[in-house]
Amino acid sequence: MTQALGASNGTARPGEAAGGEAEPVRAGAAQPLRLSVLGATGSIGTSTLDLVGHHPHRFEIVALTAQCNARRLAELAILHRAKLAVIGEETRYAELRDLLAGTGIRVAAGAGAVEAAAREPADCIMAAIVGAAGLRPTFAAAEQGQRIALANKECLVSAGEIFLSQIDRNGAELMPVDSEHSAAFQAIGRTPARSIEKILLTASGGPFRTLDKERLARVTPDEALRHPNWSMGAKVTIDSATLMNKGLELIEAFHLFPVAAHQLEAVVHPQSVVHCLVMLEDGSVMAQLSHPDMRTPIALALSWPERLATPVPRLDLVALKSLSFEVPDHDRFPALGVATDALNRGGAAPAVLNAANEVAVKAFLEREIGFLDIVAVVARCLEKADARGLISGAATLDDVLAVDGEARTMARSLLPG
Ligand code: NAD
Ligand code: MG
Repeated sequence: MTQALGASNGTARPGEAAGGEAEPVRAGAAQPLRLSVLGATGSIGTSTLDLVGHHPHRFEIVALTAQCNARRLAELAILHRAKLAVIGEETRYAELRDLLAGTGIRVAAGAGAVEAAAREPADCIMAAIVGAAGLRPTFAAAEQGQRIALANKECLVSAGEIFLSQIDRNGAELMPVDSEHSAAFQAIGRTPARSIEKILLTASGGPFRTLDKERLARVTPDEALRHPNWSMGAKVTIDSATLMNKGLELIEAFHLFPVAAHQLEAVVHPQSVVHCLVMLEDGSVMAQLSHPDMRTPIALALSWPERLATPVPRLDLVALKSLSFEVPDHDRFPALGVATDALNRGGAAPAVLNAANEVAVKAFLEREIGFLDIVAVVARCLEKADARGLISGAATLDDVLAVDGEARTMARSLLPG
């Protein structure tokens, strides 16, 4: 099994430049922080740029990238005076070029150009592309040797150790953006690894927390896309409904924090106010609380060890009255068990898990399969991949992407019709 980050492999923990002490990046200092945003038009990208809009003198936008929406990308590039705007989908190049004509903003298109944008000199890169599509650009960003604000959890899920050594080799610094991991990072602080007994990641339970299995089998994509607490992109919203998001996050936490797999657990907390609980050997439980709004963890990832003011609503615990916690129901929500199984199998199993889940979520959104089929397809794909020797390991990013491709083909073959 892999060695958890920071335990003995010499790799930097989140917030620590590899091999040394954390240094403040420049948000909050006299010099503006040079920031690039990969996935600028998405939920995390938009929240990041919203914060930038609240602190225009603290940031200088270097590059913004998006996949398809040239109009939105052009608007954001103009609003934030980006130096470079890159659209992944090459057929949208002319549209973007025309929209930005006369602005002085450089324009490029294609997957290679997205990676090149990630390599533009910057102090911090927000890695907020969704899915395994974010791997190559985020790896490219890590070559900078600067701060990576990591929203793209797939880098850690599919390529954990390889990604961490990429960070380490380049002297880069990793800051988690996922709210639970941002919370764990703060709750752990300088606590030595040996004093941590357990890390509990909270899960809202999603929109179907109280539905029985018979009803779960019939839920529609529209129902699944209505998350009770968080506003997020479609993929992560469906993952929150199946609880696969929490499964992916357990794997993410395994790589970020110095704990073994059995020290990581998920707990359902419907209010989404406590984002993580870190239990220590002296009986203390450290937690981080905030209104469920990604701008709080994003602000920390951009400004740590400083803080950045946000317009996020302040918590009113008295008005909230109560915070509740429940054990997840593994029968109705088997995703947690399937993800934990992939983590325990190790090797390339988490990459197979993620790829199969991306295929299954897309099939659900396109109404090819039902809600309960999503995790069933993922579990079957893992079994099949193991039987074919696909999960034995991946040593490089190319190996991971090859496994990812094969797992997608395998998962598609498990879909009906
Ligand atoms: P989203 O779907 O809203 O946005 C995704 C962005 O990636 C868009 O800008 C899109 O244009 C771009 N993109 C999509 N496919 C691409 C490709 N092939 N190449 C290049 N760019 C591409 O997604 P999101 O909800 O913002 O999530 C982004 C990442 O952050 C995911 O990994 C997700 O798990 C993680 N995350 C999101 C939230 C949240 O609240 N939304 C919370 C925690 C973690
Ligand atoms: Mg999360």
